[in-house]
Amino acid sequence: MPERIFNFSPGPAVLPYEVLRQAAVDIVNFRDKGIGLIELSHRSKEFMGVVEETEALIRENLGVPAGYRVLFLQGGASSQFFMIPMNFLGAGKKATYLNTGVWSKKAIKEARLFGEIDVAFSSEETKFNRVPRDDEYTVDPASEYLYFVSNNTIYGTQFQSFPQTGSMLVSDMSSDILSRPVDVGRFGIIFAGAQKNMGPAGVTIVIIREDILDRSPDNIPTMLRYKTHADNGSMFNTPPCFAVYCVGLVMKWLKESGGVEAIEKINNEKAALLYSAIDTTDFYRGHAEPASRSRMNVSFNLPTPELEARFITEAAAEGLDGLKGHRSIGGCRASIYNAFPREGVAKLVDFMEHFARVNG
Ligand SMILES: *Cc1c(COP(=O)(O)O)cnc(C)c1O
Repeated sequence: MPERIFNFSPGPAVLPYEVLRQAAVDIVNFRDKGIGLIELSHRSKEFMGVVEETEALIRENLGVPAGYRVLFLQGGASSQFFMIPMNFLGAGKKATYLNTGVWSKKAIKEARLFGEIDVAFSSEETKFNRVPRDDEYTVDPASEYLYFVSNNTIYGTQFQSFPQTGSMLVSDMSSDILSRPVDVGRFGIIFAGAQKNMGPAGVTIVIIREDILDRSPDNIPTMLRYKTHADNGSMFNTPPCFAVYCVGLVMKWLKESGGVEAIEKINNEKAALLYSAIDTTDFYRGHAEPASRSRMNVSFNLPTPELEARFITEAAAEGLDGLKGHRSIGGCRASIYNAFPREGVAKLVDFMEHFARVNG
């Protein structure tokens, strides 16, 4: 793979090389049909087969139990910020949100258009450097659901375990879905934009408990109603065919790599390597409190913004790309999703040691 470098981009993010090669073939001639994948009717039996296989692999990899639907939607993860409250709130209804970063804040803003929102925890005052412990917030029993972001892509924090509450859990898992086992049966809705850990941009995976599909009010647009998509197998309108197909390839790759449990071990090792490089010197400072550290996005600072800029430039020259932190907190961030290779983390750690020695 001479043309590849190590891509630490937060999203769209690195995909397995085999997946890209297969997609490059299929986009021209899908399974020897003489038609490229993105030229096929979405109602053709070939493409319907792709959707079925992709759904089956998501179910298998994530352990989605019976009684849940898997939907392929558009509008990005961000459209779920309003679709969820639009479908499950309304006059006199309330929900509880945990505010752990930019993505939860945006979701809270949208949810307030549709109901009463109780923000039961916020780490905004400490620049979202942690997620709450269970004993730091309470959920009003009148809440329709408890909403949280399982991994905060920008700040590099992650719920190490999921909230223990009687309330229905709703989670934005855009940046850590399929990176670790999840007991899906505890959730009402799990959603994820594909472009972090599952595929290219363009499709949002929504896993939703079947029995809540009928709760939506009558006066919402057809396209924005979950039941519409559930009743039509995500084929109410033209789905994002190419993105769905690529998610299917990534699911196959994940299954062949040993599944979520195997990838979790590798993810833990990759993250441990990187955090230990941060912790062994005073030169680097991790943004997240240790108990909240993400295994997908590692955000850290150097002593000055000038050193950070030099670090990012020199790393890029070594084939370590995409290490600039999000504009809201600056600094550096290494995103090391499922498809990010261990050798890339090792190379970054070597570079960090070298850079600290020269500049520290
Ligand atoms: C990237 C991201 C989003 C936004 O996704 P879009 O598909 O661009 O709308 C939402 N939530 C989290 C946790 C993210 O990482």
